[in-house]
Amino acid sequence: MAVEPADRFRLSRAQYGRAKEHLATGVATAFRAAQRPVPVTFVRGAGSRLWDVDGNEYVDWALAFGPMLLGHSPAPVIAAIRAQLELGLGYGASHPLEAELAEAICETVPSAELCVFNTTGSEAVHTAIRIARAATGRRKLIKFRHYHGWFDPIHVGIPGQAGTGPATGGQDPEAAKSTVVCRWNDIGDLEGSLDSDVAAVIMEPIAVNGGCQLPNPGYLERARGLVHAAGAVLIFDEVITGYRISLGGAQEYFGVTPDLTVLGKALGGGVPISAVAGRADVMSAVGSKMSHVGTFNLNPVAAAAALATVRSLQADRAETYARLEVTGASLAAAIREGSKEGGFPLEVNQIGAMAHAFVAAEATNDTLGMPPSDREAYLQFAAALLERGVHVIPRGTLYASIAHTEGDLALTQAAVREAAAQCATAAQA
Ligand code: PMP
Repeated sequence: MAVEPADRFRLSRAQYGRAKEHLATGVATAFRAAQRPVPVTFVRGAGSRLWDVDGNEYVDWALAFGPMLLGHSPAPVIAAIRAQLELGLGYGASHPLEAELAEAICETVPSAELCVFNTTGSEAVHTAIRIARAATGRRKLIKFRHYHGWFDPIHVGIPGQAGTGPATGGQDPEAAKSTVVCRWNDIGDLEGSLDSDVAAVIMEPIAVNGGCQLPNPGYLERARGLVHAAGAVLIFDEVITGYRISLGGAQEYFGVTPDLTVLGKALGGGVPISAVAGRADVMSAVGSKMSHVGTFNLNPVAAAAALATVRSLQADRAETYARLEVTGASLAAAIREGSKEGGFPLEVNQIGAMAHAFVAAEATNDTLGMPPSDREAYLQFAAALLERGVHVIPRGTLYASIAHTEGDLALTQAAVREAAAQCATAAQA
């Protein structure tokens, strides 16, 4: 008997309807609004699985937009949080986990000598830019069509956006006056844009938000050389790649170290915490030339979660990252093969535990910083997967965790085959 989507998501629909009464748009972040047939309301997560309010179970490849590298509700992280809960939720003052977490980051991230902390990735990006400006006494910022959070100076020229102006209403266009958007992987464009007023060049070392695109061989090395020759600071935004592509992030994976690194998402194992880590001479601007503030910086509950996350990744390092690579590659293969079998082939870019699936469109214009894709078709595909117990980000990004199993992959491939067949039939209708 065919499954009726209307029945399957009945309570999610009701919850969404209720939320819209007093929660603007009914979702807490705009990215969630894209989900079809309705933004799903989840009530529990464990390992690779999520359960929704209607009692449906899902294999989850969205992982809360990335943080759940250890899977949902990972035991060491939950235990560390519980232990800290007994001691207090926060002191607004120093506590022992502060030094311990900073040490753990400096042990694991190759370029890290000193750290500061914030709560979200957007905030930490803002901090990194401020440190670079304070350290150099310069003003300009060079970015690419990458995503670095939603703050005005950097929320311009994001993946998929036409143009390089503010990416949403309500931004102050003046705030991004010192921001220059260059073409990534084009060394000449960067070279031509660097001048003596550039404080920093910021990039995602793997363009995950732009469809999981890799740097060209030698690009990161050459960019680093040019940025340094110009006296500017190189910032790697490793909010996604940090602790995910390898313990030491993309800088370790590619062997190219930035001056400053932004960390978030996976760092907290699911709890909000972010950091900027970097070379001591650049980081020493903190305190001497600028102040770094924030009520919740290094909140002990978040610090406990992050410390447990980093220590468990460190303890099983070789096995963990080998496993993540295999799971990521198997996921990409399951999607490629399943969608081909279903008659609606998808393209997949994948590296390690990150991937991006897209419906290849005829146009081959990637000037928007995204692979060309039929976004509407992918939304329908994601909805068809949801009906079959597989949860993915409707934009195309996919994340694997250490909790995913071969059983999850087999279930996913079968769901992809059926969802692809449904999409192929719909496309012919
Ligand atoms: N940088 C990158 C590379 C990101 O992917 C994100 C979030 N997707 C951010 C920064 C912003 O992080 P947050 O959403 O925690 O503010």
